[in-house]
Amino acid sequence: MSEHNNLKPDSLVVAAGRPAQTPDGNINPSISLNSTFIAGGPVGYGRSGNESWGALEETIGALEGGPTLVFSSGMAAINAVISLLPKGAVVTTSKNGYTGTMIVLAQLVEKEWLEVRYVDVSDTEEVLAALPGTSLLWLESPTNPALEIADLPTIIKAAKSQGIGVAVDNTFATPLLQQPLELGADISMHSVTKYLAGHSDLIMGSLSTRDQALFHRLFDARKNGGAIPGPFEAWLALRGIRTLSVRMERAQHNALELAMRLSKHPAVERVRYPGLPEDPHHDRARSFMNGFGAIVGIEVKGGPAAADKACESSRLVSYATSLGGVESLWERRHRWAAESVSIPVNLVRLSVGIENLEDLWSDIDQALRASQE
Ligand SMILES: *Cc1c(COP(=O)(O)O)cnc(C)c1O
Repeated sequence: MSEHNNLKPDSLVVAAGRPAQTPDGNINPSISLNSTFIAGGPVGYGRSGNESWGALEETIGALEGGPTLVFSSGMAAINAVISLLPKGAVVTTSKNGYTGTMIVLAQLVEKEWLEVRYVDVSDTEEVLAALPGTSLLWLESPTNPALEIADLPTIIKAAKSQGIGVAVDNTFATPLLQQPLELGADISMHSVTKYLAGHSDLIMGSLSTRDQALFHRLFDARKNGGAIPGPFEAWLALRGIRTLSVRMERAQHNALELAMRLSKHPAVERVRYPGLPEDPHHDRARSFMNGFGAIVGIEVKGGPAAADKACESSRLVSYATSLGGVESLWERRHRWAAESVSIPVNLVRLSVGIENLEDLWSDIDQALRASQE
């Protein structure tokens, strides 16, 4: 990793995590299909380490700026962090967080293991007021799917000055748009499934941290929890990361243009996209992010039935959950019972892919028109 210290992120995505350059050496890391290793080394058994994970961890680590562990899913990574919390710990988090995170936390509250304080992460005063007594501040920004922006520099600084552990779910932004560890967070977490892997063909998660003691505790949580990724998935994820920078650039370009056109569409009540100058989160996003991402929230006129009809009427844009792939996807979030009550029932989350902009627009335009019939 050290020979790449001076590279920019769009070079790192290509150059990091490759084998040492030797004559006739491999240009790519191999898919290491081994459950065990000859005795005498630091790894020993395949639940502790694997060459294919190592290459991926080195690459995500170079982008996030801290040693990294990959897990079998984003949720496995989240659960590893939560598993470190002692009984009675207070977690402060977004009331609009990722549904999986919300479910895990709610279950631990029900078992009287944790106390959770839910805040509007875009309301800095509210977050700061909830900090005293907090053990872990779990942040997500931009939030999924409300697309609110938290003032990460201010909030992280305040939390760290009180000795509070801070983790940021960096899935929506990717390390190209913001680097939580650089802002002082203890952990940056990814659903690698989304932008990092980028092709909707695998499920994986990651945690990055500069805190060595914390890294070892998380390493043990992975080894003993057993939520390890497969070597093939790790290899695929690394192959996906190689194009992260060009994918993000294209997807963001498409997203901004679509958001601008959607905000004038007769079938649309409101568009959420931090890249729109009129978006309430625009100035804050500009102040510390390197871009606005490629997720657009569309509140469709005519309520949930019209929103569903739009999703069912698209052809190029697939009607499916998830995000961050090369292909555009959309869905009405409240088709999931677990979606937060604070999310509008007519909100469609559009994950903008890298297709031709005009093809995307004509498909989205015809689907929205069909939704009003
Ligand atoms: C998808 C997602 C997760 C969960 O990750 P999986 O890889 O599906 O387990 C967590 N956070 C955010 C923001 C996500 O979008």
